[in-house]
Amino acid sequence: MTVNSLEALDRMHWVHPVANWAGHEKRGVTILKSAKGAFITDADGHELIDGFAGLWCVNVGYGHESIVEAAAAQMRELPYATGYFSFGSEPTILLAAKLAELTPGDLNHIYFSLGGSDAIDGALRLIQFYYNVTGRPTKKAILSLERGYHGSSSTGAGVTALPAFHANFDFPSHVRHYVAAPYAYRNPTGSDDAAVIAASVASLRAKVEELGADNVAAFFCEPVVGSGGVIVPPKGWLKAMRDTAAELDILFLADEVITGFGRTGPMFACEAEGVVPDMMTMAKGLTSGYAPLGALAIGEKVYKGIKDNAPDGGLVGHGQTYSGHPVSAAVALEVLRLYDEGGILANGQRVGAYFEKKLATLADHPLVGEVRARGLLAGIELVADKASKEKFSRAARLPEHLFARGYANGVIFRAFGDDIIGLAPPLCCSESEIDLIVARLRQTLDDMLAIPEVKAEL
Ligand code: PMP
Repeated sequence: MTVNSLEALDRMHWVHPVANWAGHEKRGVTILKSAKGAFITDADGHELIDGFAGLWCVNVGYGHESIVEAAAAQMRELPYATGYFSFGSEPTILLAAKLAELTPGDLNHIYFSLGGSDAIDGALRLIQFYYNVTGRPTKKAILSLERGYHGSSSTGAGVTALPAFHANFDFPSHVRHYVAAPYAYRNPTGSDDAAVIAASVASLRAKVEELGADNVAAFFCEPVVGSGGVIVPPKGWLKAMRDTAAELDILFLADEVITGFGRTGPMFACEAEGVVPDMMTMAKGLTSGYAPLGALAIGEKVYKGIKDNAPDGGLVGHGQTYSGHPVSAAVALEVLRLYDEGGILANGQRVGAYFEKKLATLADHPLVGEVRARGLLAGIELVADKASKEKFSRAARLPEHLFARGYANGVIFRAFGDDIIGLAPPLCCSESEIDLIVARLRQTLDDMLAIPEVKAEL
């Protein structure tokens, strides 16, 4: 079918996720056709380097035949097996065991979802269940970080603290309680590490005090805030937040949907600070986007609390038809093998250190207020004035211009809010591919200086 016909069908029929519906109809779809390694080719034959690993998920890179083989072999043998009624399949059992081994501490029990949002949704439901059956039914409130993102399920989007996910939607009140993010660049009490950590810890304490510890269930925490603008915390922040949650007697859930599977260096970001959460969500890099899959790892306290106290014959009524899908599990097992035996985790660690240094060279650009990175996860915050940190207004249409110029220059990244570039290259990238991403980014930033709407605000 021709590209034009596909574009027309798309306009008429596909409701795209997180999209401006009217804007999309006007602009039209960009059809991606094929990919290999870190490069994507679109339907017009334009080759781009993928600085965002799809949607920060294609960690191992595109085109791994061994993953295709794993999926095909599983489809041939057993394309589907339910996990209901105590049925199971080999790849899903092996994957649960592998994740229990890879995740920190006593996160030994794995519930499978189809992606991140429903892993979070499962956590929300199981936390309610846990407190209800263990005799503390008033513990309901879920805290999360300002600018945090935890998916867009009907309750989980309330835990997400981004305005676009709230406006004109309705949420139960227990999921909208926010704690200060470790946003050093704009932290009112100072940008040094100790001040940033102290501000978040004080905010967590104040929130629990305001609501009453008996009413607070859990704190959901991204080790590095992703969709809220890649806010990289100082070292020690995650541990301080985890310890404070324990002291306040609330559960600590680490949402490693982005940070998991080597994105910031170690397999999980929690590892870097010796943090053992009560629960951990993961998705994205688990299958590197080759198949849909998410997981919720549950520690012994919550697992036993539910198992030993579930009433009515012990049934825990939470599940999905495709929970623990054997094809996705077979894909994940092969992806995990590639991180390890294929050397992709180690490559990501080496290239991540290079990326941090190389990206920092963009700090001299007149539009760049701050470059922040941890491993292969980075944000570049743009400002109209470097000294005052003044933001661009919506009228400058910076995200649209950035994305369009970046695309023309052959690099894909994400533009958040009005002024933040998000980057998450595949872990398989070489140093020269990182050089290419950074060179094309600099070109894109230079191009911005010539755009009248942007120039008008400088
Ligand atoms: N949590 C975090 C931290 C995420 O970044 C995302 C997705 N970007 C989600 C949850 C939701 O995952 P999904 O889009 O797979 O539902």
